[in-house]
Amino acid sequence: MKISIVIPVYNEAEGIDELYRRTMTALSELTQDFEIICVDDGSQDTSLEQLIAYHKKDKRFKVISLSRNFGHQSAVLAGLSVAKGDYIGVMDGDLQDPPEVFAQFYEQLQQGYDVAYAIRKNRKEGLVKKFAYWLFYRLLDKMADTKIPLDSGDFCMMSRRVVDKMLSMQEQSLYLRGIRAWVGYKQTGVEYERAERFAGEPKYDFKQLFQLAYNGMFSFSSLPVRVMRRLGYLTLTFSFLYALKILIFYFLYQDAPRGFTTLALAIIFFSGVQLISIGVLGEYVYRTYNESRQRPLFIIKDRFLNDDMR
Ligand code: UDP
Ligand code: MG
Repeated sequence: MKISIVIPVYNEAEGIDELYRRTMTALSELTQDFEIICVDDGSQDTSLEQLIAYHKKDKRFKVISLSRNFGHQSAVLAGLSVAKGDYIGVMDGDLQDPPEVFAQFYEQLQQGYDVAYAIRKNRKEGLVKKFAYWLFYRLLDKMADTKIPLDSGDFCMMSRRVVDKMLSMQEQSLYLRGIRAWVGYKQTGVEYERAERFAGEPKYDFKQLFQLAYNGMFSFSSLPVRVMRRLGYLTLTFSFLYALKILIFYFLYQDAPRGFTTLALAIIFFSGVQLISIGVLGEYVYRTYNESRQRPLFIIKDRFLNDDMR
């Protein structure tokens, strides 16, 4: 098998005809030896039935279905785990990532790169969402211990060895684009125009997006804990200076009491700081717990792969 393409699908019924048509055409132009693996992430609409119908028409179009909705990142990982190709691509099922770009990725991989990822030239989302994305990627870039390319999502093509490394990681707080960067090898970016959704509404809500952002920050940076320590140093320095001032006033002018406002403000402020710090610590404890449970990240319910090998 030369090329595998993994596509997570969650309630995309309106777009599946077009998805089938566009991906099959784009891939056929590259090679005859390919498979498209759609991962049905517990859709409640007719997505799965439609996908299976296309699988019956053309066996290169394959489907696996998860036992419930596990989320985009887990769905992609599930697809990667069954992909057989030497080169493995990932794209969204809403056609925001044009499958025609795989030709460019493929060319880069044949020239010796191990990962070709897409860089979004512009987004067609609302102003607030656009700004949030812009800010997040720049913030993460400043924080992260691993260099994660700016404005690049999961749309990419990778070599077999990169995918095998990614699959061996088993991280619970999955941030695939971070792990992809962490793996290393030769990587290159390809610019593209991010299209609008072909049909339907975004399936990622704000809560899920924040969760993804948190995973990026906590999994690829130790800044949250380091910030607490720095804040500690800062307040300690400040309190020394303040103690000095109080002592000087006490000995020079003999006026000690008064200062209720300062006291009250200091208590309120530092209570807040302490609560936030405990919260950050709690986040790390929770994440450690979560990792230690070692739950599987996805459960595959059905496979429509039609492959004697499996
Ligand atoms: N998706 C999924 N599981 C989910 C949410 C989304 O498999 O729980 C799929 C969805 O069908 C789409 C892709 O992930 O193919 C990207 O989702 P969406 O378009 O909502 O994200 P956005 O483009 O807004 O980042
Ligand atoms: Mg989308």
